[in-house]
Amino acid sequence: MKAEIIAVGTELLLGQIVNTNAQYLSQKLAELGVDVYFQTVVGDNSARLRQAIEIGRSRADLLVFTGGLGPTQDDLTKDVLADYLNRELSIHEPSMSAIEQMFSSRGIHMVESNRRQALMIDGGVPLENTTGLAVGNGLSVDGTLYLLLPGPPREMKPMMEDAGERWLRSMMGEANPLYSRILKFAGIGESNLEAKLLDLIDGQLDPTIAPYAKEGEVSIRVSTKASSSIEADLKIDKSVQQIKERVGEYLYAEQDIPLEEEVIHLLRASRRKLASAESISGGLLAELITNVPGSSGEYVGGVVTYTNIMKHHLLSIPMTQLEGEGAPGAISDSTAALMAERVRELSDADFGVSLTGVAGPAQSEGKPVGLVYVGIAERGKPTAVHTLNLSGGRGMIRMRAVKSALYRLWLALQAR
Ligand code: ATP
Ligand code: MG
Repeated sequence: MKAEIIAVGTELLLGQIVNTNAQYLSQKLAELGVDVYFQTVVGDNSARLRQAIEIGRSRADLLVFTGGLGPTQDDLTKDVLADYLNRELSIHEPSMSAIEQMFSSRGIHMVESNRRQALMIDGGVPLENTTGLAVGNGLSVDGTLYLLLPGPPREMKPMMEDAGERWLRSMMGEANPLYSRILKFAGIGESNLEAKLLDLIDGQLDPTIAPYAKEGEVSIRVSTKASSSIEADLKIDKSVQQIKERVGEYLYAEQDIPLEEEVIHLLRASRRKLASAESISGGLLAELITNVPGSSGEYVGGVVTYTNIMKHHLLSIPMTQLEGEGAPGAISDSTAALMAERVRELSDADFGVSLTGVAGPAQSEGKPVGLVYVGIAERGKPTAVHTLNLSGGRGMIRMRAVKSALYRLWLALQAR
Protein backbone atom coordinates (compact mmCIF):
# COMPACT_ATOMS: atom_id res chain seq x y z
CA MET A 1 0.00 0.00 0.00
CA LYS A 2 1.27 3.45 -0.98
CA ALA A 3 0.38 6.38 1.21
CA GLU A 4 0.53 10.16 1.10
CA ILE A 5 0.37 12.34 4.18
CA ILE A 6 -1.46 15.62 3.68
CA ALA A 7 -0.90 18.12 6.49
CA VAL A 8 -3.41 20.94 6.32
CA GLY A 9 -2.66 24.32 7.85
CA THR A 10 -1.51 27.75 6.79
CA GLU A 11 0.63 28.00 9.96
CA LEU A 12 2.74 25.17 8.56
CA LEU A 13 3.34 27.05 5.30
CA LEU A 14 4.20 30.24 7.17
CA GLY A 15 6.76 28.37 9.24
CA GLN A 16 4.97 29.16 12.48
CA ILE A 17 4.81 25.51 13.45
CA VAL A 18 6.88 22.50 12.49
CA ASN A 19 5.19 19.59 10.75
CA THR A 20 5.91 17.09 13.50
CA ASN A 21 2.71 15.22 12.67
CA ALA A 22 4.16 14.18 9.32
CA GLN A 23 7.22 12.73 11.01
CA TYR A 24 5.13 10.84 13.53
CA LEU A 25 2.73 9.54 10.90
CA SER A 26 5.54 8.45 8.59
CA GLN A 27 7.09 6.44 11.39
CA LYS A 28 3.77 4.97 12.40
CA LEU A 29 2.83 4.00 8.86
CA ALA A 30 6.22 2.40 8.30
CA GLU A 31 5.61 0.29 11.39
CA LEU A 32 2.29 -0.78 9.96
CA GLY A 33 3.99 -1.84 6.76
CA VAL A 34 2.61 1.03 4.69
CA ASP A 35 5.00 2.79 2.30
CA VAL A 36 4.79 6.57 2.48
CA TYR A 37 5.68 7.95 -0.95
CA PHE A 38 4.77 11.60 -0.45
CA GLN A 39 4.28 14.20 2.27
CA THR A 40 2.30 17.26 1.29
CA VAL A 41 1.59 20.49 3.13
CA VAL A 42 -1.30 22.67 2.03
CA GLY A 43 -2.84 25.79 3.53
CA ASP A 44 -6.37 26.29 4.86
CA ASN A 45 -7.75 26.98 1.39
CA SER A 46 -10.46 24.91 -0.24
CA ALA A 47 -9.30 25.16 -3.84
CA ARG A 48 -5.73 24.19 -3.04
CA LEU A 49 -6.78 21.46 -0.61
CA ARG A 50 -8.99 20.03 -3.34
CA GLN A 51 -6.03 20.09 -5.70
CA ALA A 52 -3.91 18.26 -3.12
CA ILE A 53 -6.61 15.58 -2.78
CA GLU A 54 -6.79 15.17 -6.52
CA ILE A 55 -3.03 14.77 -6.87
CA GLY A 56 -2.84 12.50 -3.84
CA ARG A 57 -5.54 10.24 -5.18
CA SER A 58 -3.67 9.84 -8.44
CA ARG A 59 -0.52 8.52 -6.78
CA ALA A 60 -1.48 6.87 -3.49
CA ASP A 61 -3.90 4.26 -2.16
CA LEU A 62 -4.16 5.88 1.24
CA LEU A 63 -4.41 9.61 1.99
CA VAL A 64 -3.79 10.52 5.62
CA PHE A 65 -4.95 14.03 6.51
CA THR A 66 -3.98 15.88 9.64
CA GLY A 67 -5.46 19.23 10.66
CA GLY A 68 -8.56 21.20 9.88
CA LEU A 69 -11.09 19.17 11.86
CA GLY A 70 -11.78 21.97 14.33
CA PRO A 71 -14.85 24.17 14.71
CA THR A 72 -13.69 27.32 12.97
CA GLN A 73 -14.20 28.67 9.46
CA ASP A 74 -10.67 27.80 8.40
CA ASP A 75 -11.10 24.16 9.39
CA LEU A 76 -12.28 22.72 6.11
CA THR A 77 -10.81 19.28 5.60
CA LYS A 78 -14.09 17.40 6.01
CA ASP A 79 -16.08 19.89 3.90
CA VAL A 80 -13.62 19.86 1.03
CA LEU A 81 -13.20 16.10 0.97
CA ALA A 82 -16.97 15.52 1.18
CA ASP A 83 -17.49 17.95 -1.68
CA TYR A 84 -14.74 16.31 -3.73
CA LEU A 85 -16.27 12.85 -3.20
CA ASN A 86 -19.83 14.12 -3.76
CA ARG A 87 -20.85 12.93 -0.32
CA GLU A 88 -22.99 14.55 2.32
CA LEU A 89 -21.82 15.45 5.78
CA SER A 90 -23.93 14.53 8.76
CA ILE A 91 -23.70 14.80 12.51
CA HIS A 92 -22.40 11.71 14.28
CA GLU A 93 -24.78 11.59 17.25
CA PRO A 94 -22.56 9.82 19.82
CA SER A 95 -19.78 12.35 19.15
CA MET A 96 -22.27 15.17 19.35
CA SER A 97 -23.49 14.07 22.76
CA ALA A 98 -19.91 13.67 23.98
CA ILE A 99 -19.20 17.25 22.89
CA GLU A 100 -22.37 18.58 24.54
CA GLN A 101 -21.56 16.71 27.71
CA MET A 102 -18.04 18.13 27.81
CA PHE A 103 -19.38 21.68 27.53
CA SER A 104 -22.08 21.22 30.14
CA SER A 105 -19.75 19.48 32.61
CA ARG A 106 -17.38 22.43 32.41
CA GLY A 107 -20.22 24.89 32.54
CA ILE A 108 -19.20 26.47 29.24
CA HIS A 109 -21.70 27.64 26.65
CA MET A 110 -21.42 25.64 23.44
CA VAL A 111 -21.48 27.67 20.26
CA GLU A 112 -23.10 26.40 17.10
CA SER A 113 -19.80 25.94 15.29
CA ASN A 114 -18.75 23.26 17.78
CA ARG A 115 -21.30 21.00 16.14
CA ARG A 116 -18.95 20.90 13.15
CA GLN A 117 -16.55 18.79 15.20
CA ALA A 118 -19.08 15.93 15.23
CA LEU A 119 -19.39 15.84 11.43
CA MET A 120 -18.89 12.62 9.50
CA ILE A 121 -18.58 12.14 5.79
CA ASP A 122 -21.36 9.74 4.78
CA GLY A 123 -20.21 6.15 4.49
CA GLY A 124 -17.25 6.75 6.78
CA VAL A 125 -16.28 5.22 10.07
CA PRO A 126 -16.03 7.51 13.11
CA LEU A 127 -12.67 7.50 14.90
CA GLU A 128 -13.01 8.39 18.54
CA ASN A 129 -11.09 11.38 19.87
CA THR A 130 -10.19 10.52 23.46
CA THR A 131 -8.28 13.73 24.16
CA GLY A 132 -10.29 16.32 22.24
CA LEU A 133 -13.59 17.01 20.53
CA ALA A 134 -13.30 16.57 16.78
CA VAL A 135 -14.20 13.08 15.64
CA GLY A 136 -11.87 11.51 13.07
CA ASN A 137 -13.05 9.77 9.91
CA GLY A 138 -11.98 6.67 8.05
CA LEU A 139 -13.39 6.31 4.58
CA SER A 140 -12.98 3.97 1.63
CA VAL A 141 -14.15 5.29 -1.73
CA ASP A 142 -13.43 3.79 -5.16
CA GLY A 143 -10.33 1.96 -4.01
CA THR A 144 -8.80 4.87 -2.16
CA LEU A 145 -8.60 5.06 1.63
CA TYR A 146 -8.98 8.41 3.41
CA LEU A 147 -7.96 8.81 7.04
CA LEU A 148 -8.83 12.14 8.65
CA LEU A 149 -7.03 13.04 11.86
CA PRO A 150 -7.02 16.23 13.95
CA GLY A 151 -4.10 18.68 13.91
CA PRO A 152 -3.10 18.98 17.58
CA PRO A 153 -0.52 16.23 18.21
CA ARG A 154 -2.02 15.45 21.61
CA GLU A 155 -5.26 14.51 19.85
CA MET A 156 -3.82 13.12 16.63
CA LYS A 157 -1.42 10.60 18.21
CA PRO A 158 -3.85 8.85 20.58
CA MET A 159 -6.41 8.68 17.77
CA MET A 160 -3.86 7.17 15.40
CA GLU A 161 -2.57 4.71 18.00
CA ASP A 162 -6.03 3.47 18.78
CA ALA A 163 -9.01 3.93 16.46
CA GLY A 164 -6.92 4.99 13.44
CA GLU A 165 -4.62 2.00 13.56
CA ARG A 166 -7.52 -0.38 14.13
CA TRP A 167 -9.41 1.00 11.16
CA LEU A 168 -6.34 0.90 8.95
CA ARG A 169 -5.49 -2.67 9.90
CA SER A 170 -9.05 -3.75 9.19
CA MET A 171 -8.93 -2.10 5.78
CA MET A 172 -5.56 -3.66 4.93
CA GLY A 173 -6.75 -7.11 5.87
CA GLU A 174 -5.27 -8.80 8.90
CA ALA A 175 -3.82 -11.72 6.92
CA ASN A 176 -0.23 -10.89 7.77
CA PRO A 177 -0.08 -8.09 10.29
CA LEU A 178 3.19 -6.61 11.43
CA TYR A 179 4.57 -7.64 14.81
CA SER A 180 7.46 -5.90 16.46
CA ARG A 181 9.52 -5.85 19.60
CA ILE A 182 11.53 -2.97 21.01
CA LEU A 183 14.94 -3.53 22.55
CA LYS A 184 16.33 -0.76 24.73
CA PHE A 185 20.02 -0.12 25.25
CA ALA A 186 22.09 1.94 27.64
CA GLY A 187 25.76 2.78 27.82
CA ILE A 188 26.28 2.62 24.06
CA GLY A 189 25.72 5.27 21.38
CA GLU A 190 23.53 4.77 18.34
CA SER A 191 26.36 4.75 15.82
CA ASN A 192 28.43 2.35 17.89
CA LEU A 193 25.48 0.00 18.27
CA GLU A 194 24.74 0.22 14.57
CA ALA A 195 28.36 -0.52 13.70
CA LYS A 196 28.29 -3.71 15.75
CA LEU A 197 25.10 -4.87 14.04
CA LEU A 198 25.61 -3.48 10.56
CA ASP A 199 25.66 -6.80 8.72
CA LEU A 200 22.50 -7.92 10.54
CA ILE A 201 20.74 -4.63 9.85
CA ASP A 202 21.66 -4.67 6.18
CA GLY A 203 21.43 -8.38 5.53
CA GLN A 204 18.29 -9.28 7.39
CA LEU A 205 15.07 -8.63 5.54
CA ASP A 206 12.76 -10.64 7.76
CA PRO A 207 12.62 -9.73 10.59
CA THR A 208 13.89 -6.25 9.90
CA ILE A 209 16.21 -4.65 12.44
CA ALA A 210 16.03 -0.88 12.75
CA PRO A 211 17.96 1.17 15.31
CA TYR A 212 16.90 4.63 16.39
CA ALA A 213 17.84 7.13 19.08
CA LYS A 214 15.90 9.68 21.07
CA GLU A 215 16.61 11.75 24.16
CA GLY A 216 19.79 10.02 25.16
CA GLU A 217 18.39 6.52 24.64
CA VAL A 218 19.04 4.00 21.92
CA SER A 219 16.48 1.47 20.75
CA ILE A 220 16.16 -1.24 18.16
CA ARG A 221 12.90 -2.30 16.63
CA VAL A 222 12.72 -5.87 15.36
CA SER A 223 9.68 -6.35 13.12
CA THR A 224 8.18 -9.11 11.07
CA LYS A 225 4.98 -9.96 9.28
CA ALA A 226 3.43 -13.20 10.42
CA SER A 227 0.15 -15.02 10.47
CA SER A 228 0.13 -15.35 14.26
CA SER A 229 1.87 -13.88 17.27
CA ILE A 230 3.40 -17.29 18.00
CA GLU A 231 5.01 -17.42 14.58
CA ALA A 232 6.13 -13.81 14.98
CA ASP A 233 7.64 -14.48 18.41
CA LEU A 234 9.66 -17.38 17.06
CA LYS A 235 11.10 -15.27 14.25
CA ILE A 236 11.75 -12.29 16.49
CA ASP A 237 13.32 -14.44 19.24
CA LYS A 238 15.88 -15.68 16.75
CA SER A 239 16.90 -12.17 15.71
CA VAL A 240 16.96 -10.97 19.30
CA GLN A 241 19.27 -13.85 20.17
CA GLN A 242 21.72 -12.77 17.45
CA ILE A 243 21.58 -9.20 18.67
CA LYS A 244 22.15 -10.28 22.27
CA GLU A 245 25.24 -12.26 21.31
CA ARG A 246 26.84 -9.06 20.08
CA VAL A 247 25.52 -6.29 22.33
CA GLY A 248 23.66 -8.10 25.08
CA GLU A 249 25.63 -6.38 27.83
CA TYR A 250 24.01 -3.05 26.93
CA LEU A 251 20.47 -4.40 26.65
CA TYR A 252 18.33 -3.35 29.60
CA ALA A 253 14.80 -4.14 28.45
CA GLU A 254 12.92 -6.04 25.76
CA GLN A 255 10.08 -3.54 25.83
CA ASP A 256 9.78 0.18 25.31
CA ILE A 257 10.47 1.51 28.79
CA PRO A 258 12.89 4.25 29.79
CA LEU A 259 16.06 3.37 31.68
CA GLU A 260 14.86 5.08 34.85
CA GLU A 261 11.89 2.71 34.95
CA GLU A 262 14.14 -0.33 34.74
CA VAL A 263 16.35 1.12 37.49
CA ILE A 264 13.27 1.53 39.70
CA HIS A 265 12.24 -2.08 38.94
CA LEU A 266 15.65 -3.37 39.96
CA LEU A 267 15.69 -1.29 43.13
CA ARG A 268 12.23 -2.62 43.99
CA ALA A 269 13.22 -6.21 43.28
CA SER A 270 16.23 -5.91 45.59
CA ARG A 271 14.34 -3.81 48.17
CA ARG A 272 16.77 -0.93 48.04
CA LYS A 273 16.40 2.81 48.01
CA LEU A 274 17.98 5.66 46.10
CA ALA A 275 18.75 9.32 46.85
CA SER A 276 20.30 11.93 44.56
CA ALA A 277 22.42 15.07 44.75
CA GLU A 278 22.44 17.02 41.52
CA SER A 279 24.40 20.00 40.34
CA ILE A 280 24.82 20.08 36.55
CA SER A 281 21.48 18.38 35.90
CA GLY A 282 19.45 20.74 38.09
CA GLY A 283 16.94 18.09 39.15
CA LEU A 284 16.55 16.34 35.79
CA LEU A 285 17.43 12.98 37.33
CA ALA A 286 14.77 13.49 40.00
CA GLU A 287 12.31 14.53 37.31
CA LEU A 288 12.89 11.40 35.21
CA ILE A 289 12.76 9.08 38.20
CA THR A 290 9.61 10.59 39.66
CA ASN A 291 7.97 10.27 36.25
CA VAL A 292 7.94 6.53 36.89
CA PRO A 293 4.64 5.69 38.61
CA GLY A 294 5.15 4.33 42.09
CA SER A 295 8.77 5.44 42.32
CA SER A 296 8.24 6.84 45.82
CA GLY A 297 8.75 3.30 47.10
CA GLU A 298 12.36 3.33 45.91
CA TYR A 299 13.33 6.96 45.47
CA VAL A 300 13.54 8.75 48.82
CA GLY A 301 14.33 12.15 47.29
CA GLY A 302 17.18 14.37 46.35
CA VAL A 303 18.74 17.80 46.49
CA VAL A 304 19.69 20.25 43.79
CA THR A 305 22.90 21.82 45.09
CA TYR A 306 23.71 24.14 42.25
CA THR A 307 26.03 26.54 44.02
CA ASN A 308 28.99 25.89 46.31
CA ILE A 309 27.10 27.45 49.22
CA MET A 310 24.32 24.93 48.82
CA LYS A 311 26.77 22.05 48.46
CA HIS A 312 28.32 23.25 51.69
CA HIS A 313 25.13 23.92 53.66
CA LEU A 314 23.00 21.00 52.53
CA LEU A 315 25.66 18.36 52.06
CA SER A 316 28.31 19.60 54.53
CA ILE A 317 31.00 19.62 51.89
CA PRO A 318 33.86 21.76 53.25
CA MET A 319 34.34 25.08 51.43
CA THR A 320 38.05 24.22 51.25
CA GLN A 321 37.06 21.31 49.02
CA LEU A 322 35.01 23.52 46.72
CA GLU A 323 36.99 26.72 46.24
CA GLY A 324 40.24 28.52 46.84
CA GLU A 325 43.81 27.92 45.85
CA GLY A 326 44.56 24.26 45.28
CA ALA A 327 41.00 23.10 46.05
CA PRO A 328 39.69 20.28 43.84
CA GLY A 329 36.64 22.45 43.02
CA ALA A 330 32.94 21.71 42.63
CA ILE A 331 33.58 19.94 39.34
CA SER A 332 35.88 17.19 40.47
CA ASP A 333 35.79 13.49 41.15
CA SER A 334 36.25 14.00 44.87
CA THR A 335 33.29 16.43 45.07
CA ALA A 336 31.14 13.98 43.11
CA ALA A 337 32.10 11.27 45.58
CA LEU A 338 31.30 13.48 48.59
CA MET A 339 27.95 14.56 47.15
CA ALA A 340 26.89 10.95 46.56
CA GLU A 341 28.08 9.81 49.99
CA ARG A 342 26.54 12.69 51.93
CA VAL A 343 23.14 12.44 50.32
CA ARG A 344 23.13 8.70 50.90
CA GLU A 345 24.03 9.11 54.57
CA LEU A 346 21.55 11.95 55.07
CA SER A 347 18.67 9.91 53.70
CA ASP A 348 19.86 6.50 54.87
CA ALA A 349 19.30 5.23 51.30
CA ASP A 350 21.20 2.26 49.88
CA PHE A 351 22.42 4.26 46.91
CA GLY A 352 23.43 7.89 46.58
CA VAL A 353 23.96 9.19 43.08
CA SER A 354 25.53 12.53 42.22
CA LEU A 355 26.15 14.63 39.13
CA THR A 356 28.53 17.55 38.80
CA GLY A 357 30.01 18.96 35.61
CA VAL A 358 30.06 21.65 32.93
CA ALA A 359 26.96 21.90 30.70
CA GLY A 360 28.29 24.96 28.85
CA PRO A 361 28.20 27.01 26.75
CA ALA A 362 31.21 28.41 28.67
CA GLN A 363 33.77 26.45 30.61
CA SER A 364 33.73 26.56 34.40
CA GLU A 365 36.56 26.39 36.96
CA GLY A 366 38.81 26.18 33.90
CA LYS A 367 37.24 22.81 33.09
CA PRO A 368 35.94 22.02 29.61
CA VAL A 369 32.31 21.89 28.50
CA GLY A 370 31.01 18.32 28.63
CA LEU A 371 33.20 17.17 31.52
CA VAL A 372 30.89 15.45 33.99
CA TYR A 373 31.48 13.37 37.09
CA VAL A 374 28.92 10.81 38.21
CA GLY A 375 29.28 9.55 41.76
CA ILE A 376 27.71 6.28 42.93
CA ALA A 377 27.83 5.66 46.67
CA GLU A 378 26.51 2.27 47.72
CA ARG A 379 26.05 1.12 51.29
CA GLY A 380 28.94 -1.06 52.37
CA LYS A 381 30.96 -0.51 49.20
CA PRO A 382 33.64 1.93 48.13
CA THR A 383 32.24 4.94 46.28
CA ALA A 384 32.75 4.92 42.52
CA VAL A 385 33.18 8.03 40.38
CA HIS A 386 32.81 7.92 36.60
CA THR A 387 34.29 10.61 34.40
CA LEU A 388 32.35 11.49 31.25
CA ASN A 389 33.36 13.65 28.31
CA LEU A 390 30.07 14.43 26.66
CA SER A 391 29.34 16.29 23.45
CA GLY A 392 26.32 18.27 22.34
CA GLY A 393 24.57 21.43 23.42
CA ARG A 394 23.65 22.29 26.99
CA GLY A 395 20.40 20.32 26.99
CA MET A 396 21.95 17.29 25.37
CA ILE A 397 24.89 17.23 27.79
CA ARG A 398 22.55 17.37 30.76
CA MET A 399 20.30 14.60 29.39
CA ARG A 400 23.25 12.40 28.47
CA ALA A 401 24.80 12.94 31.89
CA VAL A 402 21.60 11.84 33.61
CA LYS A 403 21.20 8.80 31.38
CA SER A 404 24.83 7.87 32.06
CA ALA A 405 24.21 8.14 35.80
CA LEU A 406 21.18 5.87 35.41
CA TYR A 407 23.30 3.46 33.38
CA ARG A 408 25.90 3.33 36.18
CA LEU A 409 23.15 2.65 38.69
CA TRP A 410 21.77 -0.07 36.45
CA LEU A 411 25.23 -1.68 36.26
CA ALA A 412 25.66 -1.45 40.03
CA LEU A 413 22.29 -3.14 40.47
CA GLN A 414 23.33 -5.96 38.10
CA ALA A 415 26.52 -6.56 40.00
CA ARG A 416 24.76 -8.23 42.89
P1 ATP B 1 -8.46 22.47 16.37
O1 ATP B 1 -9.70 21.82 16.85
O2 ATP B 1 -7.48 22.73 17.48
O3 ATP B 1 -8.70 23.66 15.48
P2 ATP B 1 -7.70 21.05 13.96
O4 ATP B 1 -7.86 19.61 13.71
O5 ATP B 1 -8.61 21.99 13.21
O6 ATP B 1 -7.73 21.30 15.50
P3 ATP B 1 -5.62 22.76 13.06
O7 ATP B 1 -6.56 23.90 13.32
O8 ATP B 1 -5.16 22.55 11.68
O9 ATP B 1 -6.23 21.40 13.58
O10 ATP B 1 -4.37 22.88 14.00
C1 ATP B 1 -4.51 23.08 15.39
C2 ATP B 1 -3.17 23.09 16.05
O11 ATP B 1 -2.60 21.78 15.99
C3 ATP B 1 -2.13 23.97 15.38
O12 ATP B 1 -2.19 25.29 15.86
C4 ATP B 1 -0.84 23.31 15.79
O13 ATP B 1 -0.49 23.68 17.10
C5 ATP B 1 -1.21 21.84 15.79
N1 ATP B 1 -0.89 21.23 14.49
C6 ATP B 1 -1.67 21.20 13.40
N2 ATP B 1 -1.09 20.56 12.38
C7 ATP B 1 0.11 20.14 12.83
C8 ATP B 1 1.18 19.42 12.24
N3 ATP B 1 1.13 18.97 10.98
N4 ATP B 1 2.27 19.16 13.00
C9 ATP B 1 2.32 19.60 14.28
N5 ATP B 1 1.35 20.29 14.88
C10 ATP B 1 0.24 20.57 14.18
MG1 MG C 1 -8.41 24.23 13.64
